[in-house]
Amino acid sequence: MIVGVPREVKDDEYRVSMLPVGAEELTALGHEVLVEAGAGLGSGIVDSEYAAAGATIVEDVREIWAKSDLIIKVKEPMPKEWPLLRKGQVLFTYFHFAADEKLTRAVLESGITAIAYETLRDARGSLPLLTPMSEVAGRMSIQEGAKYLERPQEGRGILLAGVPGVAPAEVAILGGGIVGSNAAKVAAGLGANVRILDINLDRLRYLDDIMPPNVTTLYSDRHTIRESLERADLVVGAVLITGARAPRLVRREDLPRMKHGAVIVDVAIDQGGCIETSRPTTHRAPTYVVDEVVHYCVTNMPGAVGRTSTYALCNVTLPYLLQVVKHGWKACAAADLGFAEGVNIDAGRVTNKAVAATFGLPL
Ligand code: NAD
Repeated sequence: MIVGVPREVKDDEYRVSMLPVGAEELTALGHEVLVEAGAGLGSGIVDSEYAAAGATIVEDVREIWAKSDLIIKVKEPMPKEWPLLRKGQVLFTYFHFAADEKLTRAVLESGITAIAYETLRDARGSLPLLTPMSEVAGRMSIQEGAKYLERPQEGRGILLAGVPGVAPAEVAILGGGIVGSNAAKVAAGLGANVRILDINLDRLRYLDDIMPPNVTTLYSDRHTIRESLERADLVVGAVLITGARAPRLVRREDLPRMKHGAVIVDVAIDQGGCIETSRPTTHRAPTYVVDEVVHYCVTNMPGAVGRTSTYALCNVTLPYLLQVVKHGWKACAAADLGFAEGVNIDAGRVTNKAVAATFGLPL
């Protein structure tokens, strides 16, 4: 099989979808690996490392898309990549279809098989290919939130940790999954007062057991959300309904109740965002202000810490990639229902229930 590794083209995306060790393992199995020149540079990996691992370095990305049976990427294909998608090709990457109808239609029309990292499940029912990036984004959300709370960044001029004699910041985290728990860990470590809101009581029980005393768990309902927004200096949006558009937990009418200069980091923006006033932003222009509340809505947060993220992502994608090249994706999906959940679109047909329901498309 020919496996292609294009350079990522999304704004400020520094991750790459394969490490040299991936090229070494695939070529040892007799497969061919085509890596676009410079694909690893954003993560500090040079072409010669891929070449030494057996990959062929290709200057023109069109050659990679034209020749590869399977393309492995990090982010969803960008509009300029859509014309390069080839019928029958397998594309293994993050797609987040529910947040982007145009992308969904383009991939349907292309006739490719789209296997989405974000909906593939393991035997425990968790999302193994989303988890490491959620760990990165969750930890980063506090780092970014702390930065935008600074007055020169239009925040309210609050130090998360406080100092002796001055109270620390109040942090509200909507959703206590991987992003939420990682955000809570970092915020609590800095000394902030943290609230985690979730609707899964088992999850709240677990978080209550493992989190330090400056973290409070709360059931997420309209009343508690509103009350938490009023107290918060920093709000982290971290809810997920797998494959579906994020529920809008914070409404436009809630913003005037928040403190002036409070910051919202809507990590769930890649699934459409859980704040009504969120819209996607980039690392170059990450924030905007609505009703005196700073919004940070970068859709590829882990891209900014490319080296950490690339290693964390490739650690989990490579075992799946090896299975696909050994057995073919159809055999993988037949043998493993969790893998089958990762197949979102096949040959012009939606195959994932949540994606189909989002756009009213037939399964
Ligand atoms: P997760 O499934 O681990 O956690 C989601 C949590 O949301 C669950 O505990 C669930 O019970 C909770 N939830 C659902 N409905 C809720 C509600 N009404 N109120 C409160 N909680 C509710 O998911 P995750 O891995 O933590 O990912 C969260 C989001 O972050 C996803 O949309 C993911 O795609 C996104 N993400 C974004 C980036 C980025 O760069 N912006 C990076 C990584 C992950």
